[in-house]
Amino acid sequence: MNQEKIGKFIAERRKMAGLTQMQLAEKLGITDRAVSKWETGKSLPDSSIMLDLCDVLKISVNDLLTGEVVTVDNYNKELENNLLEMIKQKELADKRLLSVEVFIGITATVVLFALIFIAAFVQMEGWLRVSLISLGFALFLAGCFYALRIEQVAGYYACKECGHRYVPTYRAVAMAPHMGRTRYMHCPQCEKKSWQKKVLSKD
Ligand SMILES: [Zn+2]
Repeated sequence: MNQEKIGKFIAERRKMAGLTQMQLAEKLGITDRAVSKWETGKSLPDSSIMLDLCDVLKISVNDLLTGEVVTVDNYNKELENNLLEMIKQKELADKRLLSVEVFIGITATVVLFALIFIAAFVQMEGWLRVSLISLGFALFLAGCFYALRIEQVAGYYACKECGHRYVPTYRAVAMAPHMGRTRYMHCPQCEKKSWQKKVLSKD
């Protein structure tokens, strides 16, 4: 996706609709700064706002992502390209999220041990010792909760029995025994339990 081309296209269609950046922003309930960022190619409209934006500009989402009004002839081809590109972007974002998860896990563990170490070996009053250890565990739990949430939503789990790929519920992920990122879970398609690997792509 060519962000600069998309930006110019948005500006062109906005002017065609007789709107200023401010007026377009007001219609969408966002700031004119955001509109300016799109038009200068610094960012892409959020997927949550794309439909409304296309509605105002009287274009399709496919047009928007292509950066021009797509003709009927190459409509499907452009649609396919844009879909593939979006899938690629999601896989990349998921990959980054999973690295963040590792970082959170390591940080939470180090902080927990550091606080326990301090509480155990540094001279201090009893209540402070208890507070430090409690704080350590609270931070550790928050870290685990967040890391697990990432593991649930980033990418998919693949059933070993039938190959089905899906996003499980938070509860299913939290309750499942695991080795690294491979979890022993119940497949919603074939109903069998197996060790399911974390995968980035849907197929
Ligand atoms: Zn299955």
